[in-house]
Amino acid sequence: MTKFSDLKLDPKVLKAVEDAGYETPTPIQAGAIPPALEGRDVLGIAQTGTGKTASFTLPMISLLKRGRARARMPRSLVLAPTRELAAQVAENFDTYAQHTKLTKALLIGGVSFGEQDKLIDRGVDVLIATPGRLLDHFERGKLLLTGVQIMVVDEADRMLDMGFIPDIERIFQLTPFTRQTLFFSATMAPEIERITNTFLSNPEKIEVARAATTGENIKQGVLMFKPSRRDRAATEKRSMLRKLIDGEGEACTNAIIFCNRKVDVDIVAKSLKKNGYNAAPIHGDLDQSQRMKTLEEFRTGTLQFLVASDVAARGLDIPAVSHVFNYDVPSHAEDYVHRIGRTGRAGRSGAALMICAPIDEKNLADIERLVQNEIPRLDAPEGTPAPKADDAEAEEKPKRSRSRSRRKQDDAAEESPAAEAVSEAAPVQESEQPDDSEPRRRSRGGRGRSDRSSDRGSKTPQGLGDHLPDFIARSFEDRAETPDPG
Ligand code: AMP
Repeated sequence: MTKFSDLKLDPKVLKAVEDAGYETPTPIQAGAIPPALEGRDVLGIAQTGTGKTASFTLPMISLLKRGRARARMPRSLVLAPTRELAAQVAENFDTYAQHTKLTKALLIGGVSFGEQDKLIDRGVDVLIATPGRLLDHFERGKLLLTGVQIMVVDEADRMLDMGFIPDIERIFQLTPFTRQTLFFSATMAPEIERITNTFLSNPEKIEVARAATTGENIKQGVLMFKPSRRDRAATEKRSMLRKLIDGEGEACTNAIIFCNRKVDVDIVAKSLKKNGYNAAPIHGDLDQSQRMKTLEEFRTGTLQFLVASDVAARGLDIPAVSHVFNYDVPSHAEDYVHRIGRTGRAGRSGAALMICAPIDEKNLADIERLVQNEIPRLDAPEGTPAPKADDAEAEEKPKRSRSRSRRKQDDAAEESPAAEAVSEAAPVQESEQPDDSEPRRRSRGGRGRSDRSSDRGSKTPQGLGDHLPDFIARSFEDRAETPDPG
């Protein structure tokens, strides 16, 4: 079996890997690191949970160790589809580059341009960005991409879902032809294939099995749920969820609970809270600072149950999730794979339990076809308790406050990632998220919102409120005292 010490990584990087407690490289790491260190292009077909972030960050740090950053000319570039993912990559860099003097900047929406400009002006080795925000900086003349030696595209398939491919092509064209490219995608859609054929040069292709489909370490189960009365369906379903959670006992240290609709994310979180569970919601309608705060609480264990929509949770790296509960059967079979892939990561064991109402049986059949396995049926928990007044209230409120057509829009918006991306980009005054949620061509083409300018040129942090998480503004090393004349 390959060991990290066989991989010719820089000793400082190896030390950071040891500090992180990793013993052996994952298959994507063992496959991608050697060619990347040789300077070759890499095409990695792998999803989150496989260790892919380290598979590009470790060789990048090793390669960048020699040389210095020049003002406004980053030496490497990592593109990620969403703010959260970009912030996560930045955190990974902090971990793996802790024994080096490399500097980084994170360019994402919701953070003022001023802070980001300062870092870029000083010169950074690694620039981690969402495509829209990167191009905004470029267009403001604050950034030159001609010094980029290594470019990483992470989660290209999500970039495609979100309409970012034209931006990616443009960014490729702004970087030197001689750059090294490390390109990652969970799937190879024809459009992704085209991009890789155009911009990658004789790449080493590494494909690793999807974590979820091979996840024998994930216990799966589905509870076929029939409400006693139609008007009690929602209340009984929530009660069923609590029984499922309780049935797992102490094995359930923390969990993500997935709902198909944003409105249900809120209701389920509220209902759990009222019943004494430590739960909070996360979905695209919550502002950025709230989402980051909730995620941080979940990561650190202050929050035990994260109730989420697919888009809000996809791609997020939360390493130690013991359970995933599917409150709804996802309407797209691939979402099931993404959802359950949140648990059982990096070899840990996990459980993924789902509730299936009669109306969802067709979707369940689609999932079983996709994963080529029957999901074991669970026995109904004993004695469904009578509906609680609290629950009924939690369910009623949002319905009352929304018109039917609005509710329909919400439902549709959660149907697919692309749809939610658009819905997240709708003009909401408190939360501007052009970089991670709005396909750029739309902002130009007039089909969607055309007010990127409100984000552009802003001097105050947006979306994050007054709170700028420390790791976002931080470099590996503050070089204020030794500015690079270059
Ligand atoms: P990723 O696929 O990059 O989202 O990584 C998934 C999780 O696996 C992260 O929490 C990493 O910290 C962890 N991880 C990455 N590489 C290894 C490794 N070689 N051994 C154990 N855990 C790892």
